[in-house]
Amino acid sequence: MLALLLARRGVEVTVLEAHADFDRDFRGNTINPAAMEVLESLGLADRIRELRHALIKRFIVQAGPERETFADFSRLKTRYPYILMLPQARFLEFVAAEAGRLPNFRILMGARVRELVREGGAVRGVLYDGPDGERRKMRSDLVVGTDGRFSKVRKLAGLEPVEGDPPMDVVWFNVPREEGDPEEAGAIFRCGRGGLLVLMDHFDHWQVGYIIRKGHYSRLKDAGIAAFRSAVAELAPELSERVGGIEDWRQVSLLSVESDRLKRWYAPGLLVIGDAAHVVSPVGGIGINLAIQDAVEAANVLAGPLAEGRLGTRHLRAVQRRRSPAVRLVQLAQELAQRWVVANALDPEREEPFRLPRSLKLALRVPILRDLPSRLIAFGAWPVRVRGAVRSTEEER
Ligand SMILES: Cc1cc2nc3c(=O)[nH]c(=O)nc-3n(C[C@H](O)[C@H](O)[C@H](O)COP(=O)(O)OP(=O)(O)OC[C@H]3O[C@@H](n4cnc5c(N)ncnc54)[C@H](O)[C@@H]3O)c2cc1C
Repeated sequence: MLALLLARRGVEVTVLEAHADFDRDFRGNTINPAAMEVLESLGLADRIRELRHALIKRFIVQAGPERETFADFSRLKTRYPYILMLPQARFLEFVAAEAGRLPNFRILMGARVRELVREGGAVRGVLYDGPDGERRKMRSDLVVGTDGRFSKVRKLAGLEPVEGDPPMDVVWFNVPREEGDPEEAGAIFRCGRGGLLVLMDHFDHWQVGYIIRKGHYSRLKDAGIAAFRSAVAELAPELSERVGGIEDWRQVSLLSVESDRLKRWYAPGLLVIGDAAHVVSPVGGIGINLAIQDAVEAANVLAGPLAEGRLGTRHLRAVQRRRSPAVRLVQLAQELAQRWVVANALDPEREEPFRLPRSLKLALRVPILRDLPSRLIAFGAWPVRVRGAVRSTEEER
């Protein structure tokens, strides 16, 4: 997204992507209203909606027969009152193809960054391994590390994180949709006795997240795949036959939940954004939105100085100043949800399924409070808008 935005503002950009394609299982597949508004301002929202997707209009917490809407996006004042569920690979292919129409944009697939090039106390490029294994040098006025939660760039730059302490990990798997499954079911959080499961409605399958206590995956495996299937079926009885198809741990994928944030996001000639600057917990499904908002703000601040060759460290500092309070606020809200809801729901001593506290249920009925969760998930701490004239790629064709 940053590359697309900068390229549209006339900056020469090269993206180095370590993998040969964007296809990876179990990456986030959510595009939140704020990201849709960004795409709209680039003239891309309608075309994104032409790609095959599902819509999630509400998050529901369910304990036994009791159901509570925790976040209702349909009430939000936006043209996109839903979470658009689109496989991340399709989204990234779309964005890369859109940027690829511009002559000043390049993407090198299978190009893995290995070292930073430093000159006179500043970063001036990278060394990377190409798909043929050859090491190559690329010089640049600015290196932006957007290399995710295991960021090599941030390590090479010696940028230090403050670590969070999420109480859970998530075991992801897919099961097929069947006739008779509810339509537009949204995201449903099922609470049991010491168990928590999330069901996310995709157009052709259910993405299921079985939430476990941090570090307990090996215990889960020791108990055997049959015990895992029963635990899932207890929380989602309607899926009990379908989870019978899970016969091997290779059919599930463990997300080790992490959360951290860098104290400083920049060094002379270098900036990191997205997960590389702040890994957020999966609570609320906000990581992609935050990463896109970082990209928008970075482009707003950096496009002019980059195009005019007057980029300084103060511009990089300005990106962090605009974004890190918003990230901090989101992480605080996630920490509260983890402490009050997730840790409680996963308490092995529980005799009764976890239920939302009465005070929270009452709060969710007060008009001024009830939209806080959906607003935070939809827009992050505050909306971020694309500034400056962004040349449409339509004009290029
Ligand atoms: C299992 C899972 C489920 C998630 N679910 C959701 C969700 O439902 N909703 C949500 O909003 N967020 C979700 N997230 C978080 C979300 O995926 C991230 O917050 C978001 O993708 C961050 O975007 P990013 O561009 O910063 O990093 P990433 O999307 O991680 O992209 C980093 C890219 O850098 C590349 N790379 C890494 N190292 C190098 C290198 N040395 N050289 C070149 N390239 C490199 C990687 O191949 C990758 O393509 C989930 C994360 C995981 C792991």
